[in-house]
Amino acid sequence: MQAEDLRFEQVLDILERLYQRGNRLVVLEGGEPMLWKDGPYSIHDVVAAARKKFFSVGMTTNGTLPLDVDVDTLWVSLDGLEATHNALRGAPIFSRIMDNIKRSQHPRLFAHITINSVNAAEIPELIRFLQHKVRGITVQFYYPYNHQDELFLDFDRREKLLEEIIQLKRTGFPVLNSFAALQALKRNTWRCDDRLIDNANPDGSITQGCYLKNRADIDCSKCGFSPHTEISLACQVNLQSILAGQRIFF
Ligand code: SF4
Repeated sequence: MQAEDLRFEQVLDILERLYQRGNRLVVLEGGEPMLWKDGPYSIHDVVAAARKKFFSVGMTTNGTLPLDVDVDTLWVSLDGLEATHNALRGAPIFSRIMDNIKRSQHPRLFAHITINSVNAAEIPELIRFLQHKVRGITVQFYYPYNHQDELFLDFDRREKLLEEIIQLKRTGFPVLNSFAALQALKRNTWRCDDRLIDNANPDGSITQGCYLKNRADIDCSKCGFSPHTEISLACQVNLQSILAGQRIFF
């Protein structure tokens, strides 16, 4: 759910509606959740309310603020090694993020990497760099929101890179995406099953299914949303994906 511009009462209402719709896991993301405030309420109040309802509460942050939030799973988004991350984010923030990661005692602190045409070449090195700094790493591929988007990584490079990531996972690097999902993402040979996903929008409405609905044109042939891959495979009773979900959230 995206909570940045919502009032606290609206956030509580969304959490309740998500719960009533059958959701039992929630991930707070969109904008920068750690910055969310409404009068006396901060993101810590949102997390506390969510934890009362849901089996597991996750959050994705840019990592620039102290990672002291009491979620079950905490992802820090990383777009590359220092120069690449700073260039893609337009600010010299990489060293601050690394300091925050170093200071964090969070038991399930993960890095989440969105792979694109600019950072693709250094992803294996980034995974090696992160190995002992975070508990796990998840990867997904950049979706071309504008059709001629230069950040989109072509499928030949995607396949080659996924082979390298699979090899790293085989040799013990903490890549949390399942082998099944990594294989399926090579040429998008997975069948999307997005029934189990709900997205809360900034206006408080809830959209069922793919994250792109009501946000951008959907071109499934270019999809790289690995969480959707994993959830779809889990719905189709792929045990690797079910176990990957368990490892990430519980
Ligand atoms: S873009 Fe991806 S997640 Fe969205 S409907 Fe298509 S395959 Fe599913």
